Amino acid sequence: MILIDGKKEAAILREELKKEVLDLKARYNKIPGLTVILIGELAPSKIYVRNKEKSAKEVGLKSEVIKYPDSVDEITILNKIYELNKDDSVSGILVQLPLPKHINKKKVIEAIRPEKDVDGFHPQNVGNLSSGYESSIPCTPLGCYFLIKKVEPNLSGKKAIVIGRSNLNGKPMTQLLLKENCTVTITHSKTKDLKRECLKGDIIVAAVGIPELVRGDWVKKDTIVIDVGINKTEKGLVGDVNFEEVSKVAKALTPVPGGVGPMTIACLLKNTIECFKRSI
Ligand code: NAD
Repeated sequence: MILIDGKKEAAILREELKKEVLDLKARYNKIPGLTVILIGELAPSKIYVRNKEKSAKEVGLKSEVIKYPDSVDEITILNKIYELNKDDSVSGILVQLPLPKHINKKKVIEAIRPEKDVDGFHPQNVGNLSSGYESSIPCTPLGCYFLIKKVEPNLSGKKAIVIGRSNLNGKPMTQLLLKENCTVTITHSKTKDLKRECLKGDIIVAAVGIPELVRGDWVKKDTIVIDVGINKTEKGLVGDVNFEEVSKVAKALTPVPGGVGPMTIACLLKNTIECFKRSI
């Protein structure tokens, strides 16, 4: 079984990005900039943002974090986004989710100029991705895509099963696999007989949030299994895939932690650089 080492792949990607930033700086005398807006004191959000800032600096990006208290009003956030939209030194804007209840997520996402939407959540980017046009692509599914391609460069005709239909993971993952000419089945909480669907997959991407949902007897031999899930349990962090069982049958599998997670941040840096390149 191939253990897909997301940490290693993310480090390789970051090295490539570092070189690209140096090259862009030499050519344009400018560097790409990422601005993250963090609202409130949620511990996981603070950790994510700290990691994003650290990684951005490591590859040589200009990185800025703007912090607001939980009580900030919506208009303050929208006005800050409008200001950043106009700032040429800012290539990418990210508003860390989740937001406090009194702030409308849709309004915030739609306020970001699609050209600076490094998360790929703006409806224009969602539409572009599904139409096969150039767009920012949500970082986690983009990372999964790179990991799958490392194991199997030619995905044409493969049967892919995506578990979960969120805007963050399942739906964009489906679009990326479709673009590679996979035959894709999207499954979700109302799917009947998920095991039977999974057994048809040459590729399975699990993005559910249920610890160890995918069992060893749900997976056929030679399947590439990508585990997006991050679940806190009594035995520590586990994914949506039962690692012990599935590693005995699958062709390749991502661990949790150390699989998809590290790729997500590396892809955010890549998206920031892509936004910069499209802007010059
Ligand atoms: P979500 O809650 O938005 O969506 C979950 C999806 O799973 C839904 O579409 C739902 O229909 C489906 N689902 C629920 N129960 C199901 C069942 N019994 N069978 C089949 N499908 C079922 O979640 P999300 O934001 O897409 O995140 C999914 C998981 O990925 C979570 O564990 C989250 O923590 C993790 N995550 C990881 C990363 C990373 O970088 N590795 C990034 C984002 C999210």
